[in-house]
Amino acid sequence: KHHLGLIKEPSYETRVAFLPEEVKKLIDKYEVKISVEKEYGIQLGIPDTDYTAAGASMSSKSDILQHANLILSINDAIGEQESIPPETSFIGIYNPLFFPERLQKYKNQHALVYSLDRLPRTTLAQAMDVRSSLDALSGYKAVLKATDYYSKVFPMITTATKTLKPARVLVLGAGVAGLQAIATAKRLGAIVHAFDVRKAAGEEVRSLGAKFIEIEGNKEETNAGGYAVEQADDYKKRQQDRINEQLLATDLVICTANIPGKKAPILVDEDGVKNMPSGAVIIDLAAEQGGNCSLTKNNEIVNYKSVKILGDSHLSRELPDAASQLLSGNFFNFIKHMIEKGADNDLITASQIINQENT
Ligand code: NAD
Repeated sequence: KHHLGLIKEPSYETRVAFLPEEVKKLIDKYEVKISVEKEYGIQLGIPDTDYTAAGASMSSKSDILQHANLILSINDAIGEQESIPPETSFIGIYNPLFFPERLQKYKNQHALVYSLDRLPRTTLAQAMDVRSSLDALSGYKAVLKATDYYSKVFPMITTATKTLKPARVLVLGAGVAGLQAIATAKRLGAIVHAFDVRKAAGEEVRSLGAKFIEIEGNKEETNAGGYAVEQADDYKKRQQDRINEQLLATDLVICTANIPGKKAPILVDEDGVKNMPSGAVIIDLAAEQGGNCSLTKNNEIVNYKSVKILGDSHLSRELPDAASQLLSGNFFNFIKHMIEKGADNDLITASQIINQENT
């Protein structure tokens, strides 16, 4: 029988991994024992009594770590000094390709670690796809964030004295976050262009009513799992020229371009920013991976002449309720799959970043 432990997130985290609704489902359907750290849901205003009413018991972190065999938290929430019994399984979202050092302590203590951002983008894994959940919310929030920093309007507004022009938005990267940003900007009445190195993204961009910027000579690999790959230097040069030309008539840029495990591609350089209209805003969701704009600083707002550049890869933290709902559903589906199919099945092991062999 499984014993699931829910431990509190680090203080910067606004979201929770598991809600009382999923606690109840897991207990009722699968007879999982669930222990929850005291004040677990406090950042969302969820009292402990909601968790106990759902069938869980409240406990201390050290107790949970000693007794549960599955530990769930969105972020790495284990201190360097904390002792973990061997073969305890940790489930979370660890961005291991970018932050391998965070994981050393789990290796040292022979824990097992599952990182849901490593799941393949297959039909079966869709219901557990935390990246799609969070990227969709971040893409949406990025546009709302841009409206906050922008001192003009998104839609065309006609009054008896003057007509205000609609904002011109450029979305870089048309994956999950980019498409949601396009849809949101369109709904607000902006004129939207988007660019992606994957040709297939063009159809999705156009179906949302935005214009797709195409650059010839891109490289795509069929074995890249639908993800982008790094481009050749001559392509990058053409890409830069075309984007710089577009930036001359762009008020807002939403950056979402990523290459799994690599530094994010630089798509907006200093020259490009310099030539943007005054009051322009850049929201860079790729900031944690280095950013798509060369001037981006992660978790900071950079003012370059009259242009504001915000670097934030975790905007879903500003929608903690919505994000927790989606995450809780994703984690529930993952744990359900683990219980029904065992931890050794292909899908579960695809997300496993630390196992017995590499400890
Ligand atoms: P991602 O977050 O890795 O990257 C975001 C976007 O940036 C991608 O569309 C990528 O092509 C683009 N990009 C990379 N380098 C670029 C560059 N130099 N210039 C412009 N754009 C660049 O990607 P994602 O949003 O996670 O989506 C990756 C793929 O997975 C997409 O094809 C998406 O449709 C697919 N997907 C499938 C499922 C599923 O369940 N089947 C779920 C989610 C996503």
